[in-house]
Amino acid sequence: MEQKINDFMAHVEAKNPNEPEFIQAVREFAETVIPFISEQKKYDGKNLLLRIAEPERSIIFRVPWVDDKGEIQVNRGFRIQMNSAIGPYKGGIRFHHTVNLSVLKFLAFEQVFKNSLTTLPMGGGKGGSDFDPQGKSDAEIMRFCQSFMTELCRHIGPDLDVPAGDIGVGAREIGYLFGQYKRIRNEFTGVLTGKGLAYGGSLIRPEATGYGVVYFTEQMLKTIGEEIKGKTVAISGFGNVAWGVALKINELGGKLVTISGPDGYIYDEEGISGEKIEFMLEMRNSGTNRAEMYAERYPSAKFFKGKSPWEVKVDIAIPCATQNELNEQDAIQLINNGVMCVTEAANMPSTLDAIKQFLNAKVLFAPGKAANAGGVAASGLEMTQNSIRLNWTSEEVDLRLKDIMVGIHSQCKQYGKEEDGYVNYVKGANIAGFVKVADAMLAQGV
Ligand code: GLU
Repeated sequence: MEQKINDFMAHVEAKNPNEPEFIQAVREFAETVIPFISEQKKYDGKNLLLRIAEPERSIIFRVPWVDDKGEIQVNRGFRIQMNSAIGPYKGGIRFHHTVNLSVLKFLAFEQVFKNSLTTLPMGGGKGGSDFDPQGKSDAEIMRFCQSFMTELCRHIGPDLDVPAGDIGVGAREIGYLFGQYKRIRNEFTGVLTGKGLAYGGSLIRPEATGYGVVYFTEQMLKTIGEEIKGKTVAISGFGNVAWGVALKINELGGKLVTISGPDGYIYDEEGISGEKIEFMLEMRNSGTNRAEMYAERYPSAKFFKGKSPWEVKVDIAIPCATQNELNEQDAIQLINNGVMCVTEAANMPSTLDAIKQFLNAKVLFAPGKAANAGGVAASGLEMTQNSIRLNWTSEEVDLRLKDIMVGIHSQCKQYGKEEDGYVNYVKGANIAGFVKVADAMLAQGV
């Protein structure tokens, strides 16, 4: 089996040089799915993984824009249309200086299985730009978004590819992108999700990723007779996902003690609740990306410069920031400190070595493609509401979201339960996500 996996990975590495993030995501997937495929006559020998690891289409384009000084800037735009076997391409747009082809291919790859797990009819894609929104004026953001959409609008559509937000792309950017799409294409459709409520957005979409992560955590804890109430929780980041997690953890009686930024993390022994959660939004809107702001405002918090929150002793850890933010050493530290559950709210926040540590220690560990699927699930529900031209209430959306997360958890359990009863959610999520995509691909022919 080892040989089969190595042969496949050697092929992927040769075809995708200098793409470490993409290789990492494919390896994590291949290590659990290749053994499964080998046992299933239906899937074996069809070269399904080779086909799945090749994007259906990669679009790379120039994004010229004029800054506030009147100077012309040029960024690179991308849209990776990874797989449309089960529905139109669906996935976010990321604006961050670290964006490149490798990062977007890994995100698009993960998105395929994440979307499959939601059971909604959505294929997988991802896009973005190396444009860095930090320190840009509102007018610059608008001009950049308009230029980005001027090209992207040829490649997307409500039945073709439906982008949404991700890091650096929130309600404001979606608004500018939507406005430009409508202006050029002269149509008002649900071509983007994460829209404002006034023009076709869905209630609960902003909270959905974080809420979904906590619903998934609740389900995992239930399998060992535990609950969120009374547990201490460390999270990283203070963006949209972290905010949703903070709200729901508090609602369910957990105690949140950390948030972080690129500058370090803060530990608040009194817990991050109430208006402190709303302050996270203020921190984000300040555009400075500094977690230290929190400690400057609340004396109960201590700031740890240049460090990540994984050194704190907690029951539950939820990385909410970005890829590879939690390494093997962090994992060992969390395990030694008795962590019971680690839920990935960001996409691929744990390195492969960190994941191995969690699985070996039999810690409850949820990969992002299962645990953070609530965001795209709510996007799918936004698409449905746009199609039927109706808006559901918060309660309706939240109920469906919870149902979807409970469903994802049971799919993971079905495929990930090991002989000793431990659920390997990495294996479970990969196989369950794969099966639906593979069945559709087989049905549709080569
Ligand atoms: N960017 C989010 C994710 O990583 C949401 C994508 C969407 O709503 O289409 O899943």
